Amino acid sequence: MDLEDRYGAHNYHPLPVVLAKAEGVFMWDTEGKRYYDFLSAYSAVNQGHCHPKIVNALIDQVKTLELTSRAFYNNVLGVYERFVTSYFGYDKILPMNSGAEGDETALKLCRKWGYKVKGIPENQAKIICCEGNFHGRTISIITMSTDPSARDGFGPFTPGFVTIPYNDVKALEKALEDPNVAGFLVEPIQGEAGVFVPDEGYLKKAYDLCKSKNVLFIADEVQTGIARTGKLLACDWEGVRPDILILGKALSGGLYPISAVLADDPIMLTILPGEHGSTFGGSPLAARIAIAALEVIRDEKLADNALAMGKIFREGMTKIDSPMIELVRGKGLLNAAIIRPKNGKTAWDVCLKMRDNGLLAKPTHDHIIRFAPPLVITEDQIRESVDIIARSIKSFD
Ligand SMILES: *Cc1c(COP(=O)(O)O)cnc(C)c1O
Repeated sequence: MDLEDRYGAHNYHPLPVVLAKAEGVFMWDTEGKRYYDFLSAYSAVNQGHCHPKIVNALIDQVKTLELTSRAFYNNVLGVYERFVTSYFGYDKILPMNSGAEGDETALKLCRKWGYKVKGIPENQAKIICCEGNFHGRTISIITMSTDPSARDGFGPFTPGFVTIPYNDVKALEKALEDPNVAGFLVEPIQGEAGVFVPDEGYLKKAYDLCKSKNVLFIADEVQTGIARTGKLLACDWEGVRPDILILGKALSGGLYPISAVLADDPIMLTILPGEHGSTFGGSPLAARIAIAALEVIRDEKLADNALAMGKIFREGMTKIDSPMIELVRGKGLLNAAIIRPKNGKTAWDVCLKMRDNGLLAKPTHDHIIRFAPPLVITEDQIRESVDIIARSIKSFD
């Protein structure tokens, strides 16, 4: 901790625990104390820590062929591209690394489509985004943010965005009246905002409105996708198939930064050779890891498990009798509790107490705690975890 403080930039405020090992739903600190992981690296570790199948794929590939750049073909990328497009049902994938890069790529793709296909006049394209969003940390992406701590001191910002309230169909309808709108970028559930689940029917209505105005519906499923909410994609809950789908995090099961943008030919083929790229994106190593990570999701039926365990979790959480729990919400294993401070004790103190009792989670926005364990968690483990959370919160009574 001292080393990080002394030599690392202070752009994070970690919970004081130093981890040295992990497996499945557990992590161990340097003293050998075991914790349930209820963050899963912001849902990157859906498959559980150090999943042997994904680890073996990584080791095997890294010893054989790690990186070629896209200047040449390699014998893994095409196999991955066929696999991932059939897995999610799209014509094409554009591979990148971080989630933010995936979102940036989607924005560029949407603009290109807006000019080339929709016929928006040059440099006039607009993209609608939502209050409370989180799409990453680049300058264009924080332009869309409504969180002062993400934006302040980082201007000037990128033009071409229109911000509307989340979960507000009327506001979307109004914003879509502008013929220069090319796309609507939305998280099916706002993760960083505190697991904000929109009203039932919102995504479908938003999708239909976009269709009626020839506007691309772009889903940022970097956190909600890949079985986290109890379906492969959170958009599946409303039968919505995004025009552009952004994935990241669990696409590698936590072993490597891998993101992807998926779309059909009329959209994806608007970007031509030389117009976009990434040195590491689509490396043979990333391709092999992503195949293994997605196979684990399918073979171990992790969406079904997330659905079942999520129900048990929320049932258990709502039974906790404490004035500090104001509300529990979520879908599948993407959940959060709103914490009402008591005697000066806040969500941060609750997280410290849970750490002492063997469970790690982190507050988001001071008063909300996200609970998102790896999707391989069992019923016994979920019940034990709820007991730990209950015991921790009740200790402040
Ligand atoms: C984490 C996240 C991102 C950014 O991913 P990075 O890999 O951290 O760049 C983008 N969108 C959503 C919804 C996220 O949760």
